[in-house]
Amino acid sequence: MRTLTQPVITVEMKEEILKNTPHKQVGIMGGTFNPPHLGHLVMAESVCSQLGLDKILFMPDAQPPHQNPKTTIAAKHRVAMVERAIDGNAHFDLERAEIDRGGVSYTYDTMVTLKQKHPDTDFYFIVGADMVKDLPNWHRIDDLLKLVQFVGVKRPEFPAESRFPVLWVDAPLLDISSSLIRQRIAQGCSVRYLVPDAVLDYIEEEGLYREKH
Ligand code: ATP
Ligand code: MG
Repeated sequence: MRTLTQPVITVEMKEEILKNTPHKQVGIMGGTFNPPHLGHLVMAESVCSQLGLDKILFMPDAQPPHQNPKTTIAAKHRVAMVERAIDGNAHFDLERAEIDRGGVSYTYDTMVTLKQKHPDTDFYFIVGADMVKDLPNWHRIDDLLKLVQFVGVKRPEFPAESRFPVLWVDAPLLDISSSLIRQRIAQGCSVRYLVPDAVLDYIEEEGLYREKH
């Protein structure tokens, strides 16, 4: 029987091949999504179309580094709501990297893993202006800046500026936040039209956010 010898591909050859392969352009919408709302969807859609990205990955965190864990509901509910929110948009997908890893979700760790898994992809990390303001406090921010291009989206009451190289994209200003939605539900007020109908159905079926925190 003839044995086939494997061609040897060196690291240099791999790098050369990668350099000449057209890179996929992928946006990442990281967040707690507690719950996802129209603000998230409008910003993702605006960035996707204005930058001509191939995909936007919605990536719920396991444990956000910057939020009170007491008010964050179980990951399975947040994932289920994101799935319902993005359903029907061919450009939107769910990214489970942080949920599956568990623990505190540092974006730097996640992006190292995603870059290793997808060396042929350029990542755009989408953040609202409140998060841009907080960038100096992010874990290993200088290293993270080498892995992703940050994309900033204006948000009411936050300045659209940074000393970091943020690419600002225009999107309609929407004064909607997950905190506002949680608060309104706890007060018995309607959140219809602030979240997609399918998310509202899920919140009602599961009886989420009825108790005040
Ligand atoms: P919370 O009120 O609980 O902090 P949130 O509405 O800020 O919730 P997150 O899941 O924390 O939602 O946010 C995910 C990302 O979306 C962050 O980068 C945040 O800045 C951005 N974002 C959320 N809502 C808006 C909005 N209305 N306009 C612009 N950016 C937004
Ligand atoms: Mg927030």
